[in-house]
Amino acid sequence: MGEAKTVFISGGSRGIGAAIAVNLAEAGYDIWLNYRSSAAQAEAIRERVEELGRTCILLPFDVSDEKAAVDALSPLLEKQVPFGVVHNAGIARDTLLPMMKREEWDQVIDVHLNSFFILGKLFSKYMVVKREGRIITLASLSGETGQVGQVNYSAAKAGLIGASKALARELARRNVLVNVVSPGLIETEMIGKLPLDRILPLIPLGRVGKVEEVAGVVRFLLSDDASYITGQVLSVNGGMYM
Ligand code: NDP
Repeated sequence: MGEAKTVFISGGSRGIGAAIAVNLAEAGYDIWLNYRSSAAQAEAIRERVEELGRTCILLPFDVSDEKAAVDALSPLLEKQVPFGVVHNAGIARDTLLPMMKREEWDQVIDVHLNSFFILGKLFSKYMVVKREGRIITLASLSGETGQVGQVNYSAAKAGLIGASKALARELARRNVLVNVVSPGLIETEMIGKLPLDRILPLIPLGRVGKVEEVAGVVRFLLSDDASYITGQVLSVNGGMYM
């Protein structure tokens, strides 16, 4: 690789986002790492990225807060436009719809879907001028099939798939490629409360996925090998949904 390319990752302090940061640093990318509150974990990821010889700028802000996002990113974007943007930050507030509080609906839509509007609008304005770039959205099996107890989360993730496909069409002529990575069950804190004994038989590969197995797909979608792929949903789910 010539001059290092930079990738912005939302929610990079833990789980899949942290694995993406380390994987991409190994591949030679510099990292802009967003998180909301896990400062010590984000600092540890920054150290790992720097040990790999890449730079890492920490950007703590809530992705659903438009002013905070614009304030944190605009000064950087005036100087440099990242090659890649990975919409990864996420939360779950699972409960059956009759029990779901309005704030549980709103929080999930805010963190996943409204952040796509906020960050997508901001970054794409700069990326179209540069006429190159990759935007990758983390969706979920839940957005493809619907899941019990996840009306809010399924709605947000299905919305992200639609939004990413629409944006892929809008940006294609400017050589900005937009794709979705849709994980099934991946070993992170997010799946901590799930009844795995009941779910494992539903996974043809018979196990949950590793964060590295999602990070590797993101790395592929950022690579030259993926230069003719846009508007696609790449499922990483052990065959749970085909
Ligand atoms: P984790 O709960 O392990 O990590 C979530 C990350 O998102 C953390 O870094 C967290 O930062 C950050 N985050 C949460 N809310 C905000 C916010 N408002 N602003 C900025 N950052 C925020 O999640 P996973 O790694 O499991 O999930 C990553 C993505 O993959 C999510 O979009 C999730 O929906 C999706 N996914 C995960 C699956 C799984 O099985 N794990 C399956 C399918 C999809 P902080 O620690 O500072 O709060």
